[in-house]
Amino acid sequence: MAEISFLDSVNRNFDRAASFTNIPKGILAQIKACNAVYEIQFPVRIGQEVKVIQAFRAQHSHHRLPTKGGIRYSNMVNKDEVEALAALMTYKCAIVDVPFGGAKGGVAINPKDYTEEQLEKITRRYTTELIRKNFIGPGIDVPAPDYGTGPREMAWILDTYMTFKGGEIDAAGCVTGKPVNQNGIQGRTEATGRGVFYGLRELCDTESAMSKVGLTKGLAGKRVVIQGLGNVGMYTGLIMQKEGGIKIIGVAEYEGSIYSEDGIDIQQLLDYRKANNNSILGFPGSTTLQDRMSALELECDILIPAALENQITIDNVHRIKAKIIGEAANGPITAEAEEVLASKGTLVVPDMFLNAGGVTVSYFEWLKNLSHMRFGRMEKRFDSNMYSRLVATVEDLSGKRINDRERALLTHGADEVDLVRSGLEETMVSSFQQIWDVYSSRPEVATLRNAAFVVALEKISNDYANLGIFP
Ligand code: NAD
Repeated sequence: MAEISFLDSVNRNFDRAASFTNIPKGILAQIKACNAVYEIQFPVRIGQEVKVIQAFRAQHSHHRLPTKGGIRYSNMVNKDEVEALAALMTYKCAIVDVPFGGAKGGVAINPKDYTEEQLEKITRRYTTELIRKNFIGPGIDVPAPDYGTGPREMAWILDTYMTFKGGEIDAAGCVTGKPVNQNGIQGRTEATGRGVFYGLRELCDTESAMSKVGLTKGLAGKRVVIQGLGNVGMYTGLIMQKEGGIKIIGVAEYEGSIYSEDGIDIQQLLDYRKANNNSILGFPGSTTLQDRMSALELECDILIPAALENQITIDNVHRIKAKIIGEAANGPITAEAEEVLASKGTLVVPDMFLNAGGVTVSYFEWLKNLSHMRFGRMEKRFDSNMYSRLVATVEDLSGKRINDRERALLTHGADEVDLVRSGLEETMVSSFQQIWDVYSSRPEVATLRNAAFVVALEKISNDYANLGIFP
């Protein structure tokens, strides 16, 4: 059955949620509209041939600047997709109080078809085009990694930007998700996955949420299925297994999917995949399922799609048995499929909240770039010395001594990564609370996605009021 596009899906969700607010129609129309899209085709010499590459950058909302959002490399990239993803970024930034408008970029290539050198050429050319049209800059528009890109591509973008604009004092803030030794920040690579962990932990610690889906309180022991072991899926699995005590019973990747009731150790699976021609199939102790979509249909507590959009559609939604779906990917459930899930009582934790850890830590990276100093540099030693004095005083007063391990733990001053994780945890916990408050106090809102939208729309419309754009 033909379904509506990803963009229509996002807009349909927007319209439904907007009806629960008192925001005037004109402001809603402005919030929904995509402010600017740059579409370009540029030539790149690949081997003996010249290839024409199609690329986009959409800036969904200029109500706060810079705009912010990842760059995707995939041959499925098109204008609609980029606009949908840019819109989600606007709502996401509002939910987690990151003071940016939403944006997204896309290059319509399959990165697997190109060598590293060719990818560098394409990335540098794309960046040059963005500079030419004023679509990149620390106060204009700040890209980051997304599907098919990572720190390597961000380093190429930074270097290209510096070539043209090296004299700008804040040039390093033109892109985030950079390698740590190239103006990046500790904890960015894992940030989206870590945010997914914090978000799902909060949900599972909420008694009323768990009784709704007939599960016991707490994340530990929950049976989980993950789709996609890229940046987001990999860290979600690793962190939720190590710090959350979950049991991963199913994993889906491009080549197929596997199942094991005894649990799949994600680190071992990643090592196995690397040594096994990039395939998870045949992982010791697991059963290979029929195809890559089969894992989504397993009986489980939490299903975490972490690959791409439109994975749960009207075609397979009736076979989905998970009690909770945590949208680590952007837009993995179509609007029509979600209506079916809502009627089945499945709790869907929406993308615009759950995967906001990446943009949150990108914001920290941008702040670090603008301040030209790493987090913790000023206070780490001071704090550590104070804690040491405090411990010494307590030891003197009590006449007892603590051991070296306890001393190291108690007198530790915060490093950059400690502060980043703390800021991320605070963000995810308080944003969850805001969404949950709307969801639980206004029954007509009905879903967590509607509640998240309501939180976002009310904040953005307040921004417009404060800016005096609409007198
Ligand atoms: P990635 O390229 O690192 O990983 C994606 C993984 O999904 C790859 O391993 C790929 O092989 C796998 N995959 C592709 N199609 C699949 C299929 N049909 N079944 C199973 N696996 C499949 O991408 P990523 O950065 O992890 O992004 C994944 C999703 O998370 C995207 O929707 C992206 O927009 C979203 N997201 C990413 C970030 C970030 O910081 N990287 C932040 C927020 C949201």
